[in-house]
Amino acid sequence: TAISSADLEKIHVLGHGNGGTVYKVRHKHTSAIYALKVIHGDSDPAVRRQVLREVSILRLTDSPHVIKCHGVFDIPGGDIAICMEYMDMGTLETLLRDGVVFTERLLAKICLQVLSGLQYLHSHKIIHRDLKPSNILVDQNMQVKISDFGVSKIMQRTLDPCNSYVGTCAYMSPERFDQDTYGANYDGYAGDIWSLGLAVLELYLGHFPYLPPGERPDWSTLMCAICFGEPPTLPESASENFRSFIECCLQKDWSKRWSATQLLSHPFFSNVEDLKSV
Ligand code: ATP
Ligand code: MG
Repeated sequence: TAISSADLEKIHVLGHGNGGTVYKVRHKHTSAIYALKVIHGDSDPAVRRQVLREVSILRLTDSPHVIKCHGVFDIPGGDIAICMEYMDMGTLETLLRDGVVFTERLLAKICLQVLSGLQYLHSHKIIHRDLKPSNILVDQNMQVKISDFGVSKIMQRTLDPCNSYVGTCAYMSPERFDQDTYGANYDGYAGDIWSLGLAVLELYLGHFPYLPPGERPDWSTLMCAICFGEPPTLPESASENFRSFIECCLQKDWSKRWSATQLLSHPFFSNVEDLKSV
């Protein structure tokens, strides 16, 4: 049965992003809890129709590691709201900020789930384009799900792709900055793998890999480091398999980067049975 926006009551704000606000909401009749993302949209009805059509694709996805979308609403005035699955432990970004220590075992368990979500999306010809710790949601059982795919594409319509907040571009792969040089035959899937590698490295190090802890990013310096510098690596203290896994994700040449399917059989996951008990 379809959910309508009139059926939902706001409980409180869960967080703010670049393009909108996410609320915890309750369904008035079923008492089910959802997360409602209200995106500031365009007032042009033609643009809104297009956006709604694109977001509707999200409703058709069905993977245990991709956030379920229960409805998309066109709010008079230009905003668009997406009703999605509520995840009670927040995001990997909030867990990191709360001081959770991401061990290799925990990261392997997380990566396996994110890669399975990415494999699902990529096999359905969907590119996420905005994978980062704040778009990876977690529940109490350490079940991990990807959210916000496609949403960034909608936002790019109304915002400069590298708007003032660096978070939007910091996880972008080198080829996405310079599509003319890197872009021949580029299909886009490898960009998601780069973003995953960078996010996992950040969780392990406790800070964004290209920047010293606590430093505010300067956008143009960061972009130069991503495009012209060596990709970041794990410290010697990390295991060989983990170091190799990150290296496979952070290949600057997108054609050398491993795919989600290839990474799922990387030796980093060789103790997969063990991982069930993490
Ligand atoms: P961006 O706008 O670039 O996506 P963001 O991911 O930080 O940045 P939002 O996607 O708007 O911003 O999410 C804001 C916050 O809302 C998240 O950081 C998270 O804490 C919370 N949140 C988002 N979706 C859910 C959800 N499905 N369940 C629980 N909390 C959520
Ligand atoms: Mg988000």
